[in-house]
Amino acid sequence: MRIEENKIFIRQSWLGDALMCPERARLSALHPESRKENDSAMMGTACHTGIEAVLNEEVLPVHMGDHAVESFRWKEKELIEIGKAINITNTNPSHWNTHIRSMCDAWLRDIYPNVPLGGTSEFKFSTQVGMIDDYELHFEGTMDYFHQESIWDWKTAGRKYYQAEKQSQNIQSSIYTKAAYEMGMIDYPATFKFGVMIRNASSTGQIVSVSRTEAHGNWIVEQATALARTVLMYNKLGTGGRWLINDQHFLCSQRWCPVWDKCKGSYLNSDNAEEAE
Ligand code: SF4
Repeated sequence: MRIEENKIFIRQSWLGDALMCPERARLSALHPESRKENDSAMMGTACHTGIEAVLNEEVLPVHMGDHAVESFRWKEKELIEIGKAINITNTNPSHWNTHIRSMCDAWLRDIYPNVPLGGTSEFKFSTQVGMIDDYELHFEGTMDYFHQESIWDWKTAGRKYYQAEKQSQNIQSSIYTKAAYEMGMIDYPATFKFGVMIRNASSTGQIVSVSRTEAHGNWIVEQATALARTVLMYNKLGTGGRWLINDQHFLCSQRWCPVWDKCKGSYLNSDNAEEAE
C-alpha cells in the first residue's frame, strides 16, 4: 500500500499479506532487501516469461521450455553478480531445469489450447474503486493475461488447486475483476481463471475457474477500506511501532516469512522450518 497525496494505492499481493499478518506487510515494505529470491518463485517467473513469449508470438511453442530455462539461468547469474544466491526452499537444484521444462510442456498441452487468443499479456492497471473519507482508493497491479472473455493468472504450485477454496476466498480474482469492471473492460458476472502448472518432473496443467459478481467487488473494497483505515490510524499515531501481529498460519516460519528475523525469529526458533509449501 502506498499513499500519494489524497490517493491510496493497493495491490492484491499487499492486501493478501496484510490480511494474513499486518506486521508482515509493514516490515516487508520497510525492508525490501529482506525479500529472498526463492527457487519455487523463480521457476514460476521463468514459466511466466515463456508463456508471455508464446502468447506474444515472440517464441514458437516448441522453444518455450528452452526460453524459460534460459531466463531462469539469466536471473540466477544476475543474483550471483550482486552477491546473492537462490534461496532453496523445498526443491532439489539438480531438478530445476527439468521442472521448468515440464511445467512449460504442461501449459502448452493442458492450458494453452483453452486460452482465448487476441488478449493482452502483462496488462498493467490502476483505477479508482472507492473513497475512504477524503482519500481516493485505487487498485493497481498487473494481470498476467487479459481477455474480455476471462482474466487469466498463471500459477506454479506444489499441488493442485481446490476450486471451492478459490471461489470462496481468493482475493486476486476479486481485485482484478473489480478493477476491470471499473475501467469498463468487463461486465459482471466475470470469470477469472487460474492456469496452474504442478511443479514436478511430470507436470500436469489445471484450469481453475472462479466467478466474480458485483457483490465480490463490493466486499473486496470493504476489506481494503477497513485495512487502509487501520493503516491511516497507525500513521496518525506516529509511534512507528508494530502493527497487528498474526502468527496463526504456517507461513509464519523462518522458511516462508521474509521478515522472520525481524519479528518472531528474534524471540523464537522456527518450529515448522520443514513445512512444505
Ligand atoms: S514472523 Fe510471523 S508474525 Fe512476524 S511478520 Fe512474519 S508472519 Fe507475521
